[in-house]
Amino acid sequence: MARKHCPRCKVTVEEKVIREGNKVTKVCPNCGFIFVSYEIGKGVLIFNNEPVPDTVPNTKPKSRI
Ligand SMILES: [Zn+2]
Repeated sequence: MARKHCPRCKVTVEEKVIREGNKVTKVCPNCGFIFVSYEIGKGVLIFNNEPVPDTVPNTKPKSRI
C-alpha cells in the first residue's frame, strides 16, 4: 500500500491494490480512478486512467491521428 494523490478526488489517498492472476491494478478507493494497471510479463495496460498503447515494438500502429 502506498499513498497517492488522486487527480479526480484532489486529495491524497491510500491506493487500493487489486490482483487478478497476473494482472495488478492500483486504484483510488474513493472514486475508482486507475493509477496504474499492469500485467506481469506483459507490461502496463492503463496509466493515470488511460489505456497505454501496446508497448510491444513489433506492433506499431499503422497510422497516427
Ligand atoms: Zn479518487
